[in-house]
Amino acid sequence: MQQYDNFIGGEWVKGSSYFQNVNPSDVTDVVGDYAEASAEDVAAAVKAAVEALPEWASSTPQQRFQVLDAVGAEILARKEELGRLLSREEGKILAEGMGEVVRAGQIFKFFAGEALRLAGEHVPSVRPGVEVNVLREPVGVVGLITPWNFPIAIPAWKIAPALAYGNTVVLKPSEKAPASAWALTEMLSRADLPAGAFNLVMGQGQKVGEPLVTHPDVAAVSFTGSFAVGQRVAAACVQRQARVQLEMGGKNPLVVLDDADLDVAVACAINGAFYSTGQRCTASSRLIVTESIHDRFVERMVAHMQRLRVGDALDETTDIGPVIDEAQMSKNMHYIELAEKEGARRVFGGGRLQLDKNGYYMSPALFVDTTNDMRINREEVFGPVACVIRVRDYEEALAVANDTRFGLSAGICTTSLKHAHDFRQRVRAGLVMVNLPTAGVDYHVPFGGMKGSSYGPREQGAHAREFYTQIKTCYTKFA
Ligand code: NAP
Repeated sequence: MQQYDNFIGGEWVKGSSYFQNVNPSDVTDVVGDYAEASAEDVAAAVKAAVEALPEWASSTPQQRFQVLDAVGAEILARKEELGRLLSREEGKILAEGMGEVVRAGQIFKFFAGEALRLAGEHVPSVRPGVEVNVLREPVGVVGLITPWNFPIAIPAWKIAPALAYGNTVVLKPSEKAPASAWALTEMLSRADLPAGAFNLVMGQGQKVGEPLVTHPDVAAVSFTGSFAVGQRVAAACVQRQARVQLEMGGKNPLVVLDDADLDVAVACAINGAFYSTGQRCTASSRLIVTESIHDRFVERMVAHMQRLRVGDALDETTDIGPVIDEAQMSKNMHYIELAEKEGARRVFGGGRLQLDKNGYYMSPALFVDTTNDMRINREEVFGPVACVIRVRDYEEALAVANDTRFGLSAGICTTSLKHAHDFRQRVRAGLVMVNLPTAGVDYHVPFGGMKGSSYGPREQGAHAREFYTQIKTCYTKFA
């Protein structure tokens, strides 16, 4: 089995142990053995990033543009190979895997341009003869911690702005899907970067992530993952005054009003709830449906779900791939049992499937007769499980949509301009979708949530500079 090493200070560094990356569509298929970094490896990676900082922080915008543009171009040129690798290690279907790879390439190209566009401000002083310049500088060494469900796009949307604004980087990807991050690292290893400007350390969160988050020389940490781990990361960072940015879970509502176009509503719900096996932070897990359309909506959902094919992510006829691993499968099954105990009625799916391949397959589940106070509607499952909540009218739908500790994405299907407008204003979520699935976003605009879903400045788009740069205000008196 091929071994894949960590990348520290411009060198490939062997691990004292290796862990397996297994294909969730077929557990007999091992993608590779990946080096487990030690706490000493993490310290070496941070040291290398500290040493590379002066050179990269003083690089020209043109140098940064060239590095990021070249990586973006290579990702796009290799989209089929990388998309296949991603689907093989993560389990999303090939079209989604390739789509994610294209997204990563576009992000690198976008931030290549952003490197050229970084500007400060020149402000007239209130004092005569004085000039004020507000400059944006790199923050320093940035630690990036990423989850398994977008194994190339999320590393890309953290690495690209970090480097574009002159920071140096240590990346710790998820141990459940390290191959895409490793492939990205291999491209960066050939880029015209100073040794140590980009480092990869792989392995478990507690063994590798924690030493990174607590390292005194890591000036900023950008984390994407679960709420529980995010809180821990934030506490460690705040204690030592490191900058921190968290993107976490969701319990995203999709409101369907009586006046909705039923085809649009069902298409949004199927896509939002079940595509990518429901393993998206922006997945529509709460379908909040008004009375008159409720029965027709449920009937059409079930009819559509009967046509969804669950199978091997690499099979082009598959609509829904496997869940990531046995732990996630048990969690999904636990929530299905819990929902039934709470009184929810399962009208479709929710069973574990035995297919030809030995993978983690389950049929997407739809529950009706659920209420918003049930745990199934309050806690993130992170699987292909959606619940319908019947409501009287728009006002109740909005109240239910907002009654959650999360606030990542919220959608509404309606043909009423008045309700669409009101929803955009009053729903408490960082992303609002009208007649669109709650999942699926553009790469050139900010991404992030409110309440328990996010903490700190937004990721992506030009707004990413708020996290990856720091401000210096300079006063000059010309004698
Ligand atoms: P997770 O278990 O929180 O892990 C996220 C990352 O943190 C992994 O790399 C993990 O390492 C690492 N980690 C674990 N414990 C740590 C610790 N004590 N210190 C530092 N790092 C630690 O989340 P996940 O299961 O990978 O991802 C699913 C979650 O991510 C869901 O809640 C989903 O909603 C959220 N998500 C949010 C967004 C968003 O943008 N809002 C996007 C995608 C996913 P290992 O797992 O390798 O041990």
